[in-house]
Amino acid sequence: MALDHRLTPEHEELRRTVEAFAHDVVAPRIGAYYEQHAFPYDIVREMAAMGLFGLPFPEEYGGMGGDYLALCLALEELARVDSSVAITLEAGVSLGAMPLYRYGSEEQKREWLPKLCSGEMLGAFGLTEPGFGSDAGGTRTTAVRDGDSWVINGTKCFITNSGTDITGLVTVTAVTGRTADGAPLISTIVVPSGTPGFTVAAPYSKVGWNASDTRELSFSDVRVPAANLLGEEGRGYAQFLRILDEGRIAISALATGLAQGCVDESVRYAGEREAFGRPIGANQAIQFKLADMEMRAHTARVAWRDAASRLLAGEPFKKEAAMAKLYSSDVAVTNAREATQIHGGYGFMNEYPVARMWRDSKILEIGEGTSEVQRMLIARELGLGRG
Ligand SMILES: Cc1cc2nc3c(=O)[nH]c(=O)nc-3n(C[C@H](O)[C@H](O)[C@H](O)COP(=O)(O)OP(=O)(O)OC[C@H]3O[C@@H](n4cnc5c(N)ncnc54)[C@H](O)[C@@H]3O)c2cc1C
Repeated sequence: MALDHRLTPEHEELRRTVEAFAHDVVAPRIGAYYEQHAFPYDIVREMAAMGLFGLPFPEEYGGMGGDYLALCLALEELARVDSSVAITLEAGVSLGAMPLYRYGSEEQKREWLPKLCSGEMLGAFGLTEPGFGSDAGGTRTTAVRDGDSWVINGTKCFITNSGTDITGLVTVTAVTGRTADGAPLISTIVVPSGTPGFTVAAPYSKVGWNASDTRELSFSDVRVPAANLLGEEGRGYAQFLRILDEGRIAISALATGLAQGCVDESVRYAGEREAFGRPIGANQAIQFKLADMEMRAHTARVAWRDAASRLLAGEPFKKEAAMAKLYSSDVAVTNAREATQIHGGYGFMNEYPVARMWRDSKILEIGEGTSEVQRMLIARELGLGRG
């Protein structure tokens, strides 16, 4: 099948706009937030004003009328400079708003999407639990129907965007019943922030993504209207598999951005830093590192754009999304390690962007499905069954 990865003029214009924003607005400000482990409200407000949180959604719900490729292009450009703001956008759109768009009723979409698209409100996606991450079907959180309500009990951990001042809702997966043979019926339910019994813990102290909000959530007899169920009861497992399949393309774009940012920073540094009387970039050993880094970032970009083009064409994309995520996260970690090496001791100093990129790279091999999970998915797509 022929693949055309050239961008339309509209996509290219968006890419350039976000590139300029990342360079002019994010780059000078993000270091201070990162050091203080603080959420960058002012930057997020500006991203919202640009319409980034509504990129792939139709205008009738307050979106920009773009597509998933547009979102991924924005993520790549943001992550070239900083991954905390990129993951805030990724989680807000791909995990926070997308389940409502894909599975919500018309009424739910009209109620929530305009606020999520405008960035007035952030959404979160609560799947992972303290005892279950990769094995997400093991969900222990329960939701019991009581009259016109669901009563939710359980704990979710590592949930992005879940405790900011502008977080408006978290979509949680919960067991709402059992099939005749005892298998759990997992459903997806929207829990608005501030619902009594819904407790948001203090932010985790993380290795990276320090300007992104990540928290543990607990639900103790949390009562929400029965109408907050997303889609059909028992379809939650299938829903989140689809949301994660798409989300892997977005994470792959983000990882590619980080990998490219490592090239950007390292090429500049290699031209400026002198050792033994000449720029370190004059040494072939450094040039070869940079050539390999550029090759890896480029190949990762081809991989995520291929998966995105299949998604947009309505073709199967599960395997390609998993391969893109697996490959680009590996590339991000490798490029971040090499960029730090090229920067020598300065690369270990937090004031240098590559130090931040190094710290931010590792989670890409873990979040939205670990590298092992991606391999399991690819193997299954090859017809190898469950490993
Ligand atoms: C900063 C951050 C933000 C996050 N944001 C969100 C969010 O917004 N929403 C959300 O729901 N979750 C979120 N997560 C959770 C993330 O998706 C999980 O951490 C991830 O899926 C891995 O789950 P786990 O941590 O439970 O690891 P585990 O599943 O316990 O895995 C531990 C190790 O065992 C390996 N492993 C497990 N099973 C197998 C197997 N069958 N074969 C081979 N190896 C295996 C894994 O690959 C991994 O290396 C976030 C996590 C972090 C750290």
